Amino acid sequence: MKTVIANIDSNNPDPAVMEAAGRIIRGGGLVAFPTETVYGLGGDALNPEASARIYEAKGRPSDNPLIVHIADLSDLGPITRDVPRVAHELAGRFWPGPLTLIFGKSDRVPLQTTGGLDTVAVRFPSDPVAGALIRASGGYVAAPSANLSGKPSPTRGKYVIQDLDGRVDMILCGDDSRIGLESTIVDLTSDEPVILRPGYVTLEMLREVIPTVSLDKGLAESDPSVRPKAPGMKYRHYAPRGDMTIVEGAGPSVTAYINRKIAEARSAGLRCGVIAANERLDTYEADLKEGIGTDGDAEEAARRIYAILRNMDDEGIDVIFAEGMADGGMGTAYMNRLTKAAGHKIVRA
Ligand code: AMP
Ligand code: MG
Repeated sequence: MKTVIANIDSNNPDPAVMEAAGRIIRGGGLVAFPTETVYGLGGDALNPEASARIYEAKGRPSDNPLIVHIADLSDLGPITRDVPRVAHELAGRFWPGPLTLIFGKSDRVPLQTTGGLDTVAVRFPSDPVAGALIRASGGYVAAPSANLSGKPSPTRGKYVIQDLDGRVDMILCGDDSRIGLESTIVDLTSDEPVILRPGYVTLEMLREVIPTVSLDKGLAESDPSVRPKAPGMKYRHYAPRGDMTIVEGAGPSVTAYINRKIAEARSAGLRCGVIAANERLDTYEADLKEGIGTDGDAEEAARRIYAILRNMDDEGIDVIFAEGMADGGMGTAYMNRLTKAAGHKIVRA
């Protein structure tokens, strides 16, 4: 398949390009596009064949449901069964933005889009290109992250091209993703709202609107017998090719531990990478050193991590060590993704 690649001004998308992209989606085709979280791979959410194409293009298991993106609050009603009062409060506070809500689905949403579930995940993104594309596409765009399944989510147009050139009809290349991690997912179908996936909208922010909201128990990696409720969370996601370990503890002992392990790995002929706070980068001996931002700045770390993981692959790194970060706020989302990238391999130094 020939993929049209269009550069686009994120703040002022060319209406002719958006119209062409919308026509592709209305015709059952696929368009990758920027959002404030990560780049998405969009198809018509109400067209089962378009959803099947998304799974095929990504190589994604078809029981892993897609998020339906809207660009107008009045489009929520037709695709959902009941919308609890709390949804309106959350939407008023966080939409448009990086929050996905799960509702009972109406018959208009095909099971192919929801991975066979009778619930539907809905997000109203704030990125102007995403909004323009959704409106040009008829109002409902199903879009998972625009990476090949198992690769880190793309936060730059060039990574979308790397993964999907030749597999989709069009790629819209705009700015780098402002947030860099996928949306927070909150399930509103059980008695009390539950966070199925942590993200930029944190537990603390959600509690200001719904004091009873809690994190899904399956997210706590300390209890592997409890399965996460969001189907996608069970897959090994966001994985670099290299063998990755997270090292937690006090700064100096973490540095000493990592340098010792790197010396061992290098003497076995392996290429080693480190992901660490900018302030400590110089204290490491490694083939590739990537600064995650100022120590403790989880928002900056979130913005950078997926590009860094991809760079580790591009540089042929075999063994990766990453410093851990404190939980809480955006740190929870950052550590959630880092833990998955490392296949849950965490040590204390
Ligand atoms: P992605 O768009 O690649 O970030 O993946 C979307 C993720 O949202 C899926 O992997 C699921 O974990 C979650 N999700 C989507 N729809 C539902 C749903 N109806 N119920 C629970 N989780 C969902
Ligand atoms: Mg994804």
